[in-house]
Amino acid sequence: MAGIKGITVLGSTGSIGLSTLDVIARHPQRYRVVALTANRQVERMVQQCLHFRPSYAVMSDAGAAEQLSLLLREQGCDTQVLAGVSGLEQVSALPEVDYVMAAIVGGAGLPPALAAARAGKRILLANKEALVMSGALFMDEVRQSGAELLPIDSEHNAIFQCMPPGFERGLAETGVRKILLTASGGPFRSLPVEQLSQVSPEQAVAHPNWSMGRKISVDSASMMNKGLEVIEACWLFNTGPDHIQVVLHPQSVIHSMVEYSDGSVLAQLGNPDMRTPIAHALAWPERIDAGVPSLDMFAVARLDFEPPDMQRFPCLRLAIEAIQTGGTAPAVLNAANEVVVEAFLQELIPFTDIPRIIEQTLERLPAQPASDLETIFAVDGEARRLASTLIPG
Ligand code: NAD
Ligand code: MG
Repeated sequence: MAGIKGITVLGSTGSIGLSTLDVIARHPQRYRVVALTANRQVERMVQQCLHFRPSYAVMSDAGAAEQLSLLLREQGCDTQVLAGVSGLEQVSALPEVDYVMAAIVGGAGLPPALAAARAGKRILLANKEALVMSGALFMDEVRQSGAELLPIDSEHNAIFQCMPPGFERGLAETGVRKILLTASGGPFRSLPVEQLSQVSPEQAVAHPNWSMGRKISVDSASMMNKGLEVIEACWLFNTGPDHIQVVLHPQSVIHSMVEYSDGSVLAQLGNPDMRTPIAHALAWPERIDAGVPSLDMFAVARLDFEPPDMQRFPCLRLAIEAIQTGGTAPAVLNAANEVVVEAFLQELIPFTDIPRIIEQTLERLPAQPASDLETIFAVDGEARRLASTLIPG
């Protein structure tokens, strides 16, 4: 173990952020928190600053930054408070930062994740939306700067653990036949399809196996999450959707698998606890305690598998079509999804409008080459505006 590592945790007040700080707190001799960031949860950020004493804290919201600054001064904490996207980018590229946990939800996480990539950091990527929006450009930045990209998404972390050395050169070249991406199927896996239009936000965010932020919980219920993960896997593992098979596995014990040309299938198993992939990526290639108990195989007892139902889950089809189309199509898909998920959470649209409005947005904004970031951000804004106009009322 070489020296203490400085860490920035983007989105430290969220579900992944909290799990990350839990792992870091177990290893004070290995990791030092340099910066924490949040949108506007001031109270939680005050507690985190008092506990971890970071050099910087960033609030995206300027008002929240002012509030935080006052409260920290009252408590005698000398953490420097920054605000906005420029603050997020700044703490992702500081020389004293070795690792950046990218755990902001949605497209808002892309600019600081890119800043970390450009600065050649080890990026612990939870923010899958960043790769969905700008996979080709993001991977280029990583390669050019020599940054290390380690997946936190449990499936991609599992795949990474099962991959052969040198997989970046291409799956076929390194003896991999395909990736088996597992999915729990979420809370509506076996609900009668005709009842899907009636489900409430509370039902949608009540995931059977994982406790997560609200947006990704709705994505899991619609299986857009799995669609975004197919796209994420294409970029991370330098492959296409034809080499990725989605497998419903309701127990969420196998986190994904890799099949080799000799017929071997390697799987990574564990309790559904994000501290395992977080600890893996923090310590890689070493292993550290994550605070996760042993998997009780006798309590698990059985593992079930079934193919996904594409009629029930049109979002999965839309995401696979978007990566097949390429260019800006995945960015449009992601932007429209963020808008409709928020509308569903605010009870403005029924659950079944989620794929309907995304599909309409994709139809009205034909894909163009995703040649630079300006194009991506412009298309992202356009898709958000268009999707908003398709929300009734
Ligand atoms: P969350 O909603 O619990 O937390 C999101 C964090 O981002 C919070 O700290 C919030 O303050 C911050 N944030 C929100 N909007 C922001 C904005 N506009 N600008 C700056 N910061 C903002 O979400 P989560 O469940 O922790 O998920 C975070 C990311 O990790 C998502 O991309 C999600 O898909 C991915 N992920 C999460 C899990 C999980 O188990 N929670 C698993 C795999 C992948
Ligand atoms: Mg996942």
